[in-house]
Amino acid sequence: MSAGVSASLHEVRARIAAACKRVGREERDVTLIAVSKLHPIESISAAYAAGARDFGENYAQELRDKAQALASLEGVRWHAIGPVQTKNAKYIAKAAFAFHALCDLDVAQELSRRRGGAPLRCFLELNVGAEATKAGLGPGEASAFADAVRALPGLQLVGLMALPPLEDSPEASRPHFRRLRELGHTLGLSQLSMGSTHDFEVAIEEGATHVRVGTAIFGERPTAP
Ligand SMILES: *Cc1c(COP(=O)(O)O)cnc(C)c1O
Repeated sequence: MSAGVSASLHEVRARIAAACKRVGREERDVTLIAVSKLHPIESISAAYAAGARDFGENYAQELRDKAQALASLEGVRWHAIGPVQTKNAKYIAKAAFAFHALCDLDVAQELSRRRGGAPLRCFLELNVGAEATKAGLGPGEASAFADAVRALPGLQLVGLMALPPLEDSPEASRPHFRRLRELGHTLGLSQLSMGSTHDFEVAIEEGATHVRVGTAIFGERPTAP
């Protein structure tokens, strides 16, 4: 299995490099977050051995447990990419390098209260497809929310994040990615966390600085425990 993870990681990196080249971007300006949620520790170790340093987790307790189990791996950065309940925000405040799904002021305040050390880098999650079932701020709410977050100690607002509606074609994500980039520009936020297995190349063409790729690296996810 570990040979599989290593080969897949290299293939994703090659696709990132090709997408960057198409639009004249530097590969080093795109951070690949290997989304390891629900995958075992051994898969993360295999990706680390193949050079991965940024890992994405959706569930706060799972992130906490994996960060503890892998504390001896030097240079690992944990990215919390899923919604979190206020009561579990402390695990993210303690163990994460960045939080990509900020859209709730109670959560922001709890993260701020609990964070020690270097500020937690935060991305505001935008609900770009206006989907009733999805978390995220409406575009009209983002500016006031950004101001509120900027006032909180321990948090550093760096960018915007979105998970567009899943359509058959990756091209269908392009207008959403473009809108996120424009909104980031308006708000003075330069980092864009957008694109997953399905559409990360389109996201890079539209300016993604962080892509969150799980399945293409680790294979299909085991079902939730
Ligand atoms: C699971 C997840 C991903 C990765 O999805 P893949 O299709 O496996 O690449 C990216 N972003 C978020 C927010 C996720 O929850």
